[in-house]
Order: sequence, then structure tokens, then C-alpha cells
Amino acid sequence: CGIIGFVGNGEHETDALDVLMTGLSGLEYRGYDSAGVALGDTDLRVHKRQGEVSSLEETLEANEPGGESVGIGHTRWSTHGPPSDVNAHPHTDAEGRVAVVHNGIIENYQSLRTELREVGVTFQSDTDTEVVPHLIARGLEDGLDPESAFRAAIERLEGSYAIAAVFEGSETVYAARHESPLVLGLGEDGHYLASDVPAFIEYTDRVIYLDDGEFATLTGDSIRITDSDGEVVESSVETIEWD
Ligand code: GLU
Repeated sequence: CGIIGFVGNGEHETDALDVLMTGLSGLEYRGYDSAGVALGDTDLRVHKRQGEVSSLEETLEANEPGGESVGIGHTRWSTHGPPSDVNAHPHTDAEGRVAVVHNGIIENYQSLRTELREVGVTFQSDTDTEVVPHLIARGLEDGLDPESAFRAAIERLEGSYAIAAVFEGSETVYAARHESPLVLGLGEDGHYLASDVPAFIEYTDRVIYLDDGEFATLTGDSIRITDSDGEVVESSVETIEWD
């Protein structure tokens, strides 16, 4: 239902976890049944649970030191698989190399699940989303770099999606959209992405709206937007009016 992502540039030491939790609270108005975050750079740490953002916050306070510069978060409105801790996003591959959040519905997830099971993948959740991290992991195993593995996975999907992914040992957020909104934010302290502006409006009002079929690669000091053929797209930055 809602997505938030952040990668800092190290200049203001903005904590990714603070941005993600503020973002998830800012997305609550859309309605949701579960919430979760994945924090990156060295090892990926995923915290997720059914219920309110405030319950996730309690879990985090007990378990999460924070201090990371990259992460993604999600509020889920279940379409495939009941609300539960396991079905909450982010979803990962078996080895925890990549974490993925998704809004929308992957229409061909059944055939992708069958294909992935045939090569030995075990699914943890009932969601349509979980095929995505496993497809990405297959790409990594085939020797693709993270960006190529991400693109190759997205190209297999049918349906509607806004998707964001973070990789173990990387300070980059990858995103793609098709028939589900995604907006990037350009801040003093780094780059943001969200399904909707209220998620990061406390941090920046300078935005780029992604178009259908576009991919975005965000680091702390760069944003690269490409079309489905991999050609770089020059997108305009808008300043939004907000009360
Ligand atoms: N289809 C996905 C699920 O059921 C994502 C739902 C959403 O947009 O929150 O987990």
C-alpha cells in the first residue's frame, strides 16, 4: 500500500530508520494491516510485523540500534495472503542478499512461483511479492550485478507495481514502477522515494515523479532514471506546495 525509501549522503547524518518511521507514519492515512523496514549497507536487517506502525516501533526500539544510511519501508494492504508477520514486507531471498517492498499486484506470480520452486526456491510467505527477491537472487547467481538483476526481475513481472529494493553491502536503492505511483525526493541530506509525497514532506519538497515503465537508481548523491530500454531519462524537478 505504501512505500518509503531513503539513502543518505553522509552530510547531515540523517538516520535512515528515522526517515523510514516518519515515512510510514505519513502513509498511515492510506490504510494498512502490517508494516516493516529493511536497513542496509553492510548486512541487511529486516523488521516487520502485522498491525500498527506503533507496534513495529516497539519491536524496533528493543532490537534495532539504527545509525544506518540506507533503507526501505512498507505499509501493507494485503491482496495475496492474509495479514501476518511473515506476509508483511520487506521480503528477501533465502540468503538475505536483497530486500524488496511492493505496492500493487503481480498477476503472473503463480507461474513465477512454480518456475522458482522447480529450481529449488522455498517460499516463506503467501504473497505475490515474494517472487521478486527470489528472481533477483537468481540473477545475482547468474553473475548479474545488482542493477541488472533488479531490471531482469522486473521485466518478468505482469501486473501493477511500485517496487523498491536494497542489497546487502550496498548504499543504493533501486526502484521501478508500472501502474502504481512512485515519487523521488531530493533532500539536503540524501535522496528519498515514496508512493506518496506525505511520506517525506518533512524532509524535502523537491520531487521527481517517476513515469510508468521507468527505473530509478538512488545513491546519496545521485539519481539516475532510465526507461525500459535502459536509456537515461532527463526528468524535471518540481517543488510542491504543501501546507
Ligand atoms: N500484493 C502485495 C501483498 O499482498 C502488496 C499489497 C500492497 O500494495 O500493500 O502483499
